Amino acid sequence: MQKHILILGGGFGGLAAANELRSNLSADVKITVIDKKDYFMMDLVKLWIIKGTRKFETSKRPLQTITKKGIEFVNEQVVAIDPKQRKVKTASGEFSCDFLIIAMGVELGPEKIPGLNGNCLVLYDLEDGPKIRNEILKIKSGKIAFAITGMPYKCPPAPFEAALIIDSMLKGQKVREEIEIDFYSPAPITLPAAGPEVSKQLLDILEQQNIKFHGNCKTILVEKNQLKFEDGTSAKFDLLIAIPPHRAPKTVYECGLAQEGAYIPVKRDCKTGYDKVYAIGDVTTMMVTDKIAVPKAGIFAEGQGIAVARDIISQIKKGQDAPIFDGRGGCFVEMGNTAGYVYVDMFADPNPITRLDKPTQEHLVEKEKFEKERLEKWL
Ligand SMILES: Cc1cc2nc3c(=O)[nH]c(=O)nc-3n(C[C@H](O)[C@H](O)[C@H](O)COP(=O)(O)OP(=O)(O)OC[C@H]3O[C@@H](n4cnc5c(N)ncnc54)[C@H](O)[C@@H]3O)c2cc1C
Repeated sequence: MQKHILILGGGFGGLAAANELRSNLSADVKITVIDKKDYFMMDLVKLWIIKGTRKFETSKRPLQTITKKGIEFVNEQVVAIDPKQRKVKTASGEFSCDFLIIAMGVELGPEKIPGLNGNCLVLYDLEDGPKIRNEILKIKSGKIAFAITGMPYKCPPAPFEAALIIDSMLKGQKVREEIEIDFYSPAPITLPAAGPEVSKQLLDILEQQNIKFHGNCKTILVEKNQLKFEDGTSAKFDLLIAIPPHRAPKTVYECGLAQEGAYIPVKRDCKTGYDKVYAIGDVTTMMVTDKIAVPKAGIFAEGQGIAVARDIISQIKKGQDAPIFDGRGGCFVEMGNTAGYVYVDMFADPNPITRLDKPTQEHLVEKEKFEKERLEKWL
C-alpha cells in the first residue's frame, strides 16, 4: 500500500522536511503539507519591512508551488490531531498517514499581559511592521521602549536587531539624539541561551549605540505610556514595540501532545512518544541542559526537519541510520548596514559552544543569501 507522510505546517521546519523527503523518496510515497496560510515568508523579512528595503507582497511565496515537485498541499486549518491513530482533521476533511510530522510553530498571545493589546505595536506581527516603520519615520523626540514580555520567544536576537536597525534609521533621520531607546527583558542577560560571554558582547554593541538594556524586568501590566514590572518598578514610553508571550497552537494542547502553556517535549530524535509521530521547530521544547533549551529559530527548525526526514527515509528504505538533530546553527544580528553572526553548537561536549562574530557587511550579504537559497530550494 502507498505510504503517506503528513506534515502539519508549511513553515521553516515543514518545508525543509518535505523537500528532504521528496528528494530522497520515490513518487509512490505520498507527501502532504497542510497549512492554514497559502504562502511562506521568512519571519526575518519583517525586519526588512520596518527598514523599508522589502514589502510583504514581493517577499511571500505561494505554498501551492510545492505541488510542482510532487508534494501535495492542503490550504486548511488543522482542527484536531489524534497522535495515537495518526489521524488529522481539518475543517473539511480527515487525513490518515504512516508518518506524522508536527511543525506548527507558535502563536502570539498578547492577551496574556493585561493592557498590552492596544498600547503597543507588535514586532512579530505582520500587520504591525509597516505601522512601526511609519511611527519611526514620524518620530522627532521621546522614548521608544522594546519589551520582551515572555520567554521563550522566537529568534532571540531579533528584537535586538530591530532596536539596532531602528537606531540606524533614526540616525539617518538626524533625530537619534532626541530619542531614548530602552530595552526591557525578563531575562537577566541579553541572550541567555547563547551564554554570558556572547550576551556581554551584544550588550556592549547595544551600549555603543546608546540603547539601554534593562534585565530582570518581567512585564505584568501595560498602561497608556507605561510598563509595569513584577518587582513594583515601572517605565515610561512614547512608543512601545513589544514581543508578546508565545504559545503552542491550541490543537497541540487539545490532543495532549503538550501541556497547556508548554510546548511538545522532544529529545534530539524529535519523537513524541507516539509511534511514527514527530514534532519539530518552535512548537517543541528540546532541552540541552536542565536550564537551557534549543532556541526557537528557523535554522534549528530546518535542522530538525532534515533529521526527521532522514529518519523516515531510513525506515521506508529499510536502512540502519537513526539520524538525530545535530544542534548546530546560527543567527545573524543585523544592525544598520552590517550584521554580526551568533554561532551555536548546542550539544557540543561537555558544554554548548557559542560565539558572536563581529559585525561586517559580508554577514549582511550572507543573511540575504540565507533567505534566497532556501526559497530557491524549497519553493
Ligand atoms: C522578526 C523575526 C526574525 C527572525 N529571524 C530569524 C533568522 O534570522 N534566522 C532564523 O533561523 N530564525 C529567525 N526567526 C525565527 C523563525 O522565523 C522561526 O523560528 C521559524 O519560523 C520556526 O519554524 P517552524 O517551522 O517551527 O514554524 P513556522 O515557520 O512558524 O511554521 C509554522 C506553520 O504552521 C502553520 N500552522 C500553525 N497552526 C496551524 C493550524 N492549526 N493549521 C494549519 N497550519 C497551521 C502556520 O501557518 C505556519 O506556516 C525570526 C523570527 C522573527 C519573528
